[in-house]
Amino acid sequence: MASKEVSTGYIKKKVSEDKLMVQERPNLYDNVNKQFTKAADLMGLDANVRKILQTTSNEITIHFPVKMDDGQIEMFTGYRIQHNDVLGPYKGGLRYHPSVDIDEVKALATWMTWKGAIVDIPFGGAKGGIAFDPSKYTNNELERITRRFTFALGNNIGPEYDIPAPDINTNAQIMAWLLDTYLSTIPPHVRQSCTHVVTGKPIESGGSIGREKATGQGVVFTIEEWAKDNNFNLSDATYIVQGFGNVGSWVSRILNSHGSKLLAVEDVTGAILNYEGIDPDDLASYVNEHRGVKDYPKAKPINHETFFQTTADIFIPAAMENQITAETAPWLNVKLVAEGANGPTDIDGDKVLEERRIDLIPDILCNSGGVIVSYFEWLQNKRSEFWELEEVDTKLRKKIINAYAKVRKTANEYDIDWRTAAYIVALSRLEKVYKERGIFP
Ligand code: GLU
Repeated sequence: MASKEVSTGYIKKKVSEDKLMVQERPNLYDNVNKQFTKAADLMGLDANVRKILQTTSNEITIHFPVKMDDGQIEMFTGYRIQHNDVLGPYKGGLRYHPSVDIDEVKALATWMTWKGAIVDIPFGGAKGGIAFDPSKYTNNELERITRRFTFALGNNIGPEYDIPAPDINTNAQIMAWLLDTYLSTIPPHVRQSCTHVVTGKPIESGGSIGREKATGQGVVFTIEEWAKDNNFNLSDATYIVQGFGNVGSWVSRILNSHGSKLLAVEDVTGAILNYEGIDPDDLASYVNEHRGVKDYPKAKPINHETFFQTTADIFIPAAMENQITAETAPWLNVKLVAEGANGPTDIDGDKVLEERRIDLIPDILCNSGGVIVSYFEWLQNKRSEFWELEEVDTKLRKKIINAYAKVRKTANEYDIDWRTAAYIVALSRLEKVYKERGIFP
């Protein structure tokens, strides 16, 4: 049967004549293991700690039925992977996407453990996901899918045990449904003390001011540090962004307020370019209405390759995994890659970036602003407090630039790339705790 390869820029698919589409992508969990092994070898990580951290603690797969608006039942598959909880409760987002599978969620859960360790918050790592395309379902169906999955998870989540949050295609509304379902299924006398079972909630339902923009804000704080280190002026910088969801749109808004200019954007629907600059607010409302950047009237359409080749100072991948590869990394004409997404660069892509001396702020540092402010939300709920935006932003900045400084110091000490340095910072902290506590029994 004849087949041809179509590069969508997101997932390579083999399209055969009978329209069967087979996703072809590297196993994400292999990427994590390779990154881990490189750092563990270099730092001489304790062999026993290595065995523990190389393994996910709990892998929950749930097949669950949901009634659709037409009365038919559809079966869904969801996952919650808990990688490690030595530093605190499991913590990590919940993703709704057709690419969700157990290996993807295992990789994302593992990255959450490293993230929490680097930025010094008392959380372990977890991630969840449901394998489906939410754009094909009504709001009522999304609510029932979310509630039924939350119910099925039962006590596998909990405010002091495992705390979900938004990720790709999930938002504050979905967190509110999750919260309501969880609270409705526990005894009434403990309900009021359990709102921190989920973060990224709407403000009125116990969310934190500043959580929605937190990942993007954190990305910009790290870019500011890089700019200081390199005597680089952000007020006349140019940048390109892949993905214009929560992270991509917030990074763009905040960078624009510094005077930087957004030249090109790519998402799953296409790519656009305007050398005069693209207004992030205007594009965000267009994307909201049209579900993508395609046909945006104030920029010209370009293809995937031209997007990657656009000359700019900074590239912010803020979409899916495995975007910067052996194929695409040679196309880049930027000074810095700031990873707003999780896992946007694969192992081969990393090598090309290093060879080409393109700076990298790795995902587990760069996009940690989301989980940092999730931690603040969790604390506010536990203490019945409500912090002002200024307090949230100041504390976020402090946390993320401390982590940035640790990674920079480690990269200089070992004379290594920043991703490996970030791993060494995370693994050293985890190793220390395991050595102090030992293994039961
Ligand atoms: N999904 C986000 C991440 O990948 C946020 C996780 C959280 O706040 O728990 O970091």
